[in-house]
Amino acid sequence: MTSTTLELLQKYSVPGPRYTSYPTAPYFSTTFSEADWVDALSVPAPERDLSLYAHIPFCDSLCYYCGCNMVATRDYSKTQPYLAALEKEMARTAALVDPARVVRQLHWGGGTPTYLNPGDIHRLMEMMRTRFTLADDAEVSCEVDPRELTRGHLEALRTAGFNRLSFGVQDMDPDVQQAVNRVQSEALIRQVLDWSRELGFSSINLDLIVGLPKQTVESFRRTLERVVEWAPDRLAVFAYAHVPWLKKHQNLIHEADLPGSAARLGLQQAVNEMLGAAGYVNIGLDHFARADDELVRAQQNKTLWRNFQGYTTHKDCDILAFGVSSISQTADVYMQNDKNLRRYEDRVSKTGLAVERGIKLSRDDRIRRDAITRVMCDLELDFAAFGSEWGIAFTDYFADALAALAPLAADGLLTVGADRISVTPTGRLFLRNIGMCFDLYLKEAAANKPRYSRTA
Ligand code: SF4
Repeated sequence: MTSTTLELLQKYSVPGPRYTSYPTAPYFSTTFSEADWVDALSVPAPERDLSLYAHIPFCDSLCYYCGCNMVATRDYSKTQPYLAALEKEMARTAALVDPARVVRQLHWGGGTPTYLNPGDIHRLMEMMRTRFTLADDAEVSCEVDPRELTRGHLEALRTAGFNRLSFGVQDMDPDVQQAVNRVQSEALIRQVLDWSRELGFSSINLDLIVGLPKQTVESFRRTLERVVEWAPDRLAVFAYAHVPWLKKHQNLIHEADLPGSAARLGLQQAVNEMLGAAGYVNIGLDHFARADDELVRAQQNKTLWRNFQGYTTHKDCDILAFGVSSISQTADVYMQNDKNLRRYEDRVSKTGLAVERGIKLSRDDRIRRDAITRVMCDLELDFAAFGSEWGIAFTDYFADALAALAPLAADGLLTVGADRISVTPTGRLFLRNIGMCFDLYLKEAAANKPRYSRTA
């Protein structure tokens, strides 16, 4: 008997990673030292461009669903030692990296980058521009909280060189907004979008969240109607990750208010149906873009890649990430900075870096990362092409993964042929579960210790 999608969601709802990296962050090791990171940065890699990230952890208030590394404060003076630490960290890092390498992507995330006032927005961008070589056509993007935002913030971002914005919208229903302590009106969102377009930002992304307390399919359809009217270029629709054992403030959300699996499926179906009808293409896990967007073209050309910022067209960039908790990445190393604000600042004041943990990837890690990424980005994997790229016989090398995939194939989530695996339309809801079949660390992990949010 064929399982319904709801039965499949219930069956496959297990803790699982989102694979913005492999190995995933819980497997980074504290034995990875500052010397290891200095070695990684010192490897000449002229063929690899750069992607810069700055983490601004400050927020005016706490959204109860928040899963980010953030500090809720109304004390603006806290930004000053933090900006000083960022400058020091950038200076030490830039001194280790070939100045001829070009920055193709630059992103500020948080927290709330627009917590910074317009003067400090210019100051931070200047720090980055004076130490790194930004390409004229670089993608320069910033996450924006519509609340507390002034036109002056947006003007500062635009004149500093930002060309893309990502707004946190999440849900427009007043009851949901109250339940998560993030109240923002339609008029406010409309206003900030109008300003952004007047100022000439070329790409606008809106973030939504499904699975929030008090959310119903009907209420979320109303949110989606508004969002479609606002006509963003891209949308990210994340599933709320309820992990109160990791994020204590999520205990402020009443579990009884959270939608159950049937409602979550209804929410997901409403997203797919309404965004599809409005002309958006589902890129894969959580992301949608207009049919003429470069992410869609990259998916068609099989050049799409996935990293800590989600889907990207810049596969071969090293990510240099600055700030508390941020994660950097070279071809075969991940490094995460200290996750505590005070310790981050202390460490940087001493050495210019704040390495907390990291990992040097083995060849097997890199092969498995590529396999997981191909499935997440291309929604298929060609055994011969993959095998020749890595010099392996795919079906032998991945005999373990193919065995683990067999029950998922039997449930219709993917097809496993003689020459390729292909994710089915139903399987798009289960990309994390499919990726998990390639994950050697999960197999070796201690049983029953929850490290991730549920996959569905
Ligand atoms: S604004 Fe963003 S980072 Fe800050 S609390 Fe809300 S969700 Fe978290």
